[in-house]
Amino acid sequence: METKEIHYRAYKPRPFTKEEKSETTILFGGLTWKHERLIQGSLERMGYKSQPLPQIERVDLDIGKEFIDVGACCPTTFTAGNLARTLMSIREREGEDGVKNRYIFVTIGACGPCRFGQYHESYERVLEGLNLRDFRLFLLDLLRMEQSAPGGGLEISMPLTFGLVYSMFFGDLITDMEYATRPYEVVEGQTDRVVRESIEILYEKLKNRPIKGKKIDSLLWHVFTGYFVDALKEVRKLWDEIEVDRLRVKPRVKITGEFWLQTHEGDGNYNIKRWLEKEGAEVIPPPIAVWMDYLINMELFKLEDAKGFVKNYYPKKLAISSIAYLYRFVYNRLRKALNNIPNPLPDQRELKDLAKPYFHYRLTGGEGHMLIGKAIHAYKKRYAHMVCELSPYGCLPNTMSIGAMAKVLGDYPDLLYAPIEIKGDAEVHAYSRCQMVLTSAKKRAKEEFEEVLEKTKLSIEDIREFEEKNPYIKRATYKIPHYGYAATASNYVLHIAKLMGKPVRG
Ligand code: SF4
Repeated sequence: METKEIHYRAYKPRPFTKEEKSETTILFGGLTWKHERLIQGSLERMGYKSQPLPQIERVDLDIGKEFIDVGACCPTTFTAGNLARTLMSIREREGEDGVKNRYIFVTIGACGPCRFGQYHESYERVLEGLNLRDFRLFLLDLLRMEQSAPGGGLEISMPLTFGLVYSMFFGDLITDMEYATRPYEVVEGQTDRVVRESIEILYEKLKNRPIKGKKIDSLLWHVFTGYFVDALKEVRKLWDEIEVDRLRVKPRVKITGEFWLQTHEGDGNYNIKRWLEKEGAEVIPPPIAVWMDYLINMELFKLEDAKGFVKNYYPKKLAISSIAYLYRFVYNRLRKALNNIPNPLPDQRELKDLAKPYFHYRLTGGEGHMLIGKAIHAYKKRYAHMVCELSPYGCLPNTMSIGAMAKVLGDYPDLLYAPIEIKGDAEVHAYSRCQMVLTSAKKRAKEEFEEVLEKTKLSIEDIREFEEKNPYIKRATYKIPHYGYAATASNYVLHIAKLMGKPVRG
């Protein structure tokens, strides 16, 4: 019998033309609902119709397993399943032609030894499985400011790129505000309400932002304009209204791990941040901005490694260093509008140096050396009592970091570290593992607080009395400096002692 050879053909999306732009909806996903809503505002300003994928649910893991490689890492399986669920529901509603012609899916990618370099491959399996190979899926390069998809309908211009960067910054800053406030809110639910209102205000600001210039003029405007700072100042007024009780003694838990798992809020990581809060912790969430900062700085480190072989080394170094500087300059300006409550971005060179004895920074993929650097940084600077690292099932880069962490723990036996493997369907196991380390972290927070009370000779009654006389100190936007203790309550007591004029060493 004659067999017909079928050759592999790489997926190539049909063009998306300018004429189709007004009738086509861009689907996108993978971030928190806050970031996605803000991205929607940025896209709408540029004339695109857009729709985030629905929030990740447990069922996405099962759907994903049906379509893609069973050995895929858990974030790939969740996100591929989420895309499949969305396409199936649109097809049911609008028919096959509707989903193929009125929607496109846009995702980002980069070169890497993990799923991130292979994102589209998994999504293509979804399209094949659904018999929707004609559906258009576009992969954009994360680091390119300007690019376009075939057909010219999707154009990533400077104004759009900067809109997306501000969406990311706003999403991160509001998330930092949220996690610093909710564990201490006096009126339950107020923080969540203010988060929603803040995101809506910022969405409108992004949707109605002025478009100034197209190239370097656009860059300068986005760096120096007061438009985005003013937007945050408006939002800050909502946070001023939230009263907090910072005398609640809580362990601070720093979340690290794989990019998607650590930034995700939902079933994809067992909703572990909310769970930690419910268990009495204050969570330090990881901003997406740190990862972009890492990518920019890695370009600088690579250039420095090749110094002897690179033409125009100094001008190139100046160019990348300027981008890195401006990136942080903008982020810090925005933080300041929220009275610096959101955490600063860690110094990438410091993270690299801290991780150096354990993990070579040129081993990229996943979070690279950052997992090691962040854990040691939080421990040495006493920013957190405990590090909770979210490790995806089936992730090669993360397995390497966990291996290196064994040596770190040998050198820093006091570091409370909970590596939680996330498979997507074993939350009881993950919670119980986390609970064990959290118990020790709670004990440390309590001991530390008692030490501070002893040191300041203050009683809870003294502090309450001071609060009564100085109610401004109970605002969520009142900044408590870091005096070298991990717990917010400990730093708070020390701060009050200083305000009272007590001679306390910080
Ligand atoms: S870092 Fe790991 S979990 Fe994340 S995309 Fe790569 S392989 Fe998957």
